[in-house]
Amino acid sequence: MLSNWIEARTTARTTVISLTIGLAALAGLALWTSLSMQRAAIHLHELNEISDRWGRVVQNVDVADHALVDYLRSGTPVMGQPVANAAGAAGESLRWLREHGANADVRAAVIVGDLYGDYTTLLRETVAAGDSGDGTAARQKADQAELTLVSLRKQLSTVVQLKRLETTDYLRAAERQNGRLRLAAVVAFVIDLGLVALCGVVLLGHRRKILRQAAKSEHEAMHDALTGLANRTLLTQRTGQAIERSNRSGEPLGLFLIDLNRFKPINDTLGHAFGDRLLQHVANRLTGAVRDVDTVARLGGDEFAVLLPSVRTAANALIVADRVHRALEEAVDIDGLSVDVGCSIGVAMYPTDSSDAHELLKHADIAMYAAKRARLGTSVYEPGLDQHGEAQLTVISDLRRAIDHGELVLHYQPKADLRSGTVCGAEVLCRWQHPRLGLLGPDRFIPAAEETGLIEPLTRYVLDHALAQCREWHAGGRDVPISVNVGAQCLHDPTFPDQVSRLLKEHDRPAEALTLEITESAIIADPHRAGDVLERLRELGVRLSIDDFGTGYSSIAYLRTMPVHEMKIDRSFTTNMRSDSSSAAITRSLLGLAHNLELEVVAEGVEDEETWSALAALGCDIVQGYCLSKPLPADEFAVWLRDRRLDELTAPTP
Ligand code: C2E
Ligand code: CA
Ligand code: CA
Repeated sequence: MLSNWIEARTTARTTVISLTIGLAALAGLALWTSLSMQRAAIHLHELNEISDRWGRVVQNVDVADHALVDYLRSGTPVMGQPVANAAGAAGESLRWLREHGANADVRAAVIVGDLYGDYTTLLRETVAAGDSGDGTAARQKADQAELTLVSLRKQLSTVVQLKRLETTDYLRAAERQNGRLRLAAVVAFVIDLGLVALCGVVLLGHRRKILRQAAKSEHEAMHDALTGLANRTLLTQRTGQAIERSNRSGEPLGLFLIDLNRFKPINDTLGHAFGDRLLQHVANRLTGAVRDVDTVARLGGDEFAVLLPSVRTAANALIVADRVHRALEEAVDIDGLSVDVGCSIGVAMYPTDSSDAHELLKHADIAMYAAKRARLGTSVYEPGLDQHGEAQLTVISDLRRAIDHGELVLHYQPKADLRSGTVCGAEVLCRWQHPRLGLLGPDRFIPAAEETGLIEPLTRYVLDHALAQCREWHAGGRDVPISVNVGAQCLHDPTFPDQVSRLLKEHDRPAEALTLEITESAIIADPHRAGDVLERLRELGVRLSIDDFGTGYSSIAYLRTMPVHEMKIDRSFTTNMRSDSSSAAITRSLLGLAHNLELEVVAEGVEDEETWSALAALGCDIVQGYCLSKPLPADEFAVWLRDRRLDELTAPTP
């Protein structure tokens, strides 16, 4: 609070104005003091001169008196000369006093002058009488002169007394005035000193404020406003410095490019404010997962980077990447909503596979796309990835044309009742017969389709062709219920149930012949909208299945409220069930959970008979996986189905 007051603009202005006034007052006081001293000195000088003149008058009178006494005593006419000389000697001083003295002096000089005039006349008459030899007359005149002298002395003594008093009074008054001026000067000096000190404090405060503002501007120029992480500029600067250090020390450094996997749909459906908060959580997690010497940066959107100086080997970098994955895999709670984003990490090393900062970033970017494409989590840059990257670009730009030209092919993977081994349906899995790149798996184009919005036309395409196939099998005497994977965005499109209904009608298939597989994250992204769409699909009579169950952590709460019929346990649990006890435990608890909610459970990724038996022991309902069959083109699937019917007993008995 005090520092705010010090740094306030009004405080600075007030302090400076006060100091200016204070200094001006001090200067005025000094000037006044010097003027009044000068005035006092002049006045004292005048008083001195006047006193001096009166002194001289007294002296002249004394000299005349002594000369008269000597003259009378000697009785010789010669001694009359000094008397004659002394008579009138004070006239000059008295005239000066009349002309230059103060009023009182002028008045006194007039009175004294009259008496002195009489006295000098008598002196001259005494000497004249003496000179004429009339001793008696001389004595008489001398006596008269003595009498006049008494009055004259009295008058003079009064004047001298008065002069002394006047000087003393004046000196006292001057002393008092001086004392007052001194006090005023001391007070003004103390106030000014205080103001100077305050000015100093205010100046220091302002200096601090300016330095703080400069530091803040520099921080803003180098950091991301939302997360407070380094921005691209600072990352580039730090990468340059790390490269210089690496050149000196010979220790390789690493760079991560991190892209969030499920950010776009969350941001699109839950709103940007929610997305912003999610990014802030991600920033905190990232910072917590790396060392203090590492620089975490946000490059924009949901793209982050981590600079790892002196990480030395790609293997070390992978350990850090693993920590980052674990940090981001944990669900984030925002406003009671639990979401998990996950990420793809591209790793590039300097100087191992990049020659400068620019290339390092580019290679990390290529590696990140490779990781995303192949759902690897992390991928380390290697020269071959560049071509893949280019191929990927073509893939995305070609995808729309592929949908329009019917280049997508559908494969069918059977599902069987776990106890009886009877085939109870097939999952439709999409592939792309690319004119140049050959047959591409869904991992090469589905993530891109999800990101670019092409997933909606793609889903319509798959539904359309799969239902057409269903109809054909039905016409051939075989009813195979089908499961179609539905992209997240379809669940947020309110027209999607109508599209499904129209396609069912068009291909004359009953709704219960169709199961739609949806992922947890698609629901989480916008539970309300997804809930509405799912409800309407359920009303249509379509079956709903939660795919890849167990890979997100957030949906169990929603699962209870969702109108779904089936749960598919992700193949990452089933394929590892035998070797990894935690996978087995998760499978068991997921099964328990699903059955409590009265859902049918499909275990996908079942590759061998042992897993099949283990799942049967746990009470699983349906299996899907290589131990039945790989996904097959429609005609091969029909052959497989026919052979299977002939030989249904090949299903292992639990
Ligand atoms: P998914 O829905 O989990 O599909 C199952 C995937 O597991 C398929 O991979 C299948 O070939 C594979 N699989 C089946 N049995 C086994 C097994 O025993 N072991 C192992 N290791 N794998 C097995 P596929 O065909 O490469 O599809 C990958 C993913 O692509 C699918 O995962 C699905 O998420 C997506 N996808 C495929 N077709 C479509 C589609 O038409 N629309 C949408 N939206 N996604 C699709
Ligand atoms: Ca699926
Ligand atoms: Ca699945």
